[in-house]
Amino acid sequence: MCENTDDLILGVDLGGTKILTAVTNSQGKILSRDHSITPAKKGHEAVMQSILESAQRALEQADVAISELTAVGIGAPGLSNSETGILFTSPNLPGWQDIPLRDIMQEKLGKKTFLINDANAAALGEFCFGAARGARNFIYITLSTGIGGGIVIDGKIYTGAIGTAGEVGHMTIDDNGPICNCGNKGCWETLASGTALAREAKHRIKEGARTSILEYAKNDVEKVTAQVIYSAAEQGDSLSKELIARTGYYVGVGLANLINIFNPELIVIGGGLSNIGDMLLGPALKTAGERAYKEAFQAVRFASAGLGRNSGVLGAAAFALQEMRKLLCE
Ligand SMILES: [Zn+2]
Repeated sequence: MCENTDDLILGVDLGGTKILTAVTNSQGKILSRDHSITPAKKGHEAVMQSILESAQRALEQADVAISELTAVGIGAPGLSNSETGILFTSPNLPGWQDIPLRDIMQEKLGKKTFLINDANAAALGEFCFGAARGARNFIYITLSTGIGGGIVIDGKIYTGAIGTAGEVGHMTIDDNGPICNCGNKGCWETLASGTALAREAKHRIKEGARTSILEYAKNDVEKVTAQVIYSAAEQGDSLSKELIARTGYYVGVGLANLINIFNPELIVIGGGLSNIGDMLLGPALKTAGERAYKEAFQAVRFASAGLGRNSGVLGAAAFALQEMRKLLCE
């Protein structure tokens, strides 16, 4: 799945808030990067124009002409089909419905373009260049504002019937839990994400809990984020520690499900929330160990994502190169 050639690829990591674009080579070396804000509220035309402009800046910075690229890979949030290049829907991109993102961007860029789900891209990035090198059966999860996942079986991303597999964040953990962006109740990401952690903290503060969290949020309950809660926890705030441990517990419940279903050799954990480290992951692994089959739990190794914020953009590039090779060999 990972190539070692002298190709240059443009990778795009489209997020609900940020666009990261990079020119890379096939060994995962980044020649240039461009960050910009996703104008999500302005609709898909504006977002696609921003991707185009970001791509042009990245190319200019690397001093690479679009004609020198082998292909372009776009990692996008939400449900998509890599074969048709259509983004079905995305909770992070309001109003996007059945958008032929790949073909529109291919037209705008004038270069063969491929589309992949963002978490699958990150899994592929870790597989080719990061913490999952050499693994055949592994799961990548990103704990962030939501929870994304990529499932690799026998060295291949598992995409399912129409390309939407790997939505681990939307497995039901609590059948009567909080309403999720996807419309279901009690999805894993409504209980074990940064958004869930912040929501619980806000709720407890409004109930009058004793905590120093607000000191880290300019005394504004609406400014409470996972990062703020972690800062308070590091200074010994007991409510923050309790809430992080509770979030970790729910992370572990989901991990146990994944371990029992897939028997992976490796689970790579990335995303901003995972930077909390042991305070979150300690309870997560303890819970997973208590709930999963002992044999399956003993067989799994856990690793932190090795590429940080570059896993998505590198994976999108690796995917584009892999798909381009397939086309050339046909
Ligand atoms: Zn959901």
